[in-house]
Amino acid sequence: MTDNIIQVEHVAKHFGSLEVLKDISLEVERGQVVTIIGPSGSGKSTLLRCLNLLEKPDGGKIIFEGQDILAPGIKIADIRKKEVMVFQHFNLFKNMTVLRNVTYAPMVVNGKSREEADKDGRELLAKVGLADKAGEYPSRLSGGQQQRVAIARAMAMHPDVLLLDEPTSALDPEMVKEVLDVIRELAQSGITMVLVTHEMGFARDVSDMIHFMDGGYLVESAPPTEFFAHPKSERAQKFLSKILS
Ligand code: ADP
Ligand code: MG
Repeated sequence: MTDNIIQVEHVAKHFGSLEVLKDISLEVERGQVVTIIGPSGSGKSTLLRCLNLLEKPDGGKIIFEGQDILAPGIKIADIRKKEVMVFQHFNLFKNMTVLRNVTYAPMVVNGKSREEADKDGRELLAKVGLADKAGEYPSRLSGGQQQRVAIARAMAMHPDVLLLDEPTSALDPEMVKEVLDVIRELAQSGITMVLVTHEMGFARDVSDMIHFMDGGYLVESAPPTEFFAHPKSERAQKFLSKILS
């Protein structure tokens, strides 16, 4: 029996007259790392944002932990506590120290005591290699450090699913590795992860499944070894030859 934590069924989404997601169906098993790739504008972010209801699909179903999250009466805040997003541009709270960035939601949303949140927060900062930056403000950190704070902040919610939307594409090249290393370690820790990235080598290494999107369609889904060695669709072949050349 499979243990699907997320089941996307025939999801559709449009912005005005623009159809951004067309009949998307996919599954994520608990503990899997699932990666969405595809050209810019293909709908990757929108799909990811639908998973934790930052966007609301117009059609189809999203079943999360056995529950239809598009059904009336679902509390969006509850879903967002369990499926936490890491954004391309970090989106840290600029007026808070690094430690407060990490402890804010656990305290305010989850009602943790400051003591408890601080302890957990410091442990998470140590895990991403930033124990010594707890009292620093985000503006004093490099992009790579800021993104590692953002990852620690997301993990401080102890989510069931971590959603990462191009977590390294706003970084200077020399900082990409330090962030990918942190994500790789998380991936190996067994947390369920849905990742959008253009880092193909990384995607091949960490993913259990690759989904290739183009023009709002999920064109092709395959395990990474298969996908990268033998992409079936012409569109995936074209995309890979462009991005890998
Ligand atoms: P990707 O992440 O693959 O680059 P997106 O999901 O961001 O693609 O966007 C898919 C399409 O939807 C693009 O054409 C984009 O311009 C459009 N789009 C995304 N968000 C919005 C929005 N809030 N309002 C209008 N159009 C949007
Ligand atoms: Mg995007």
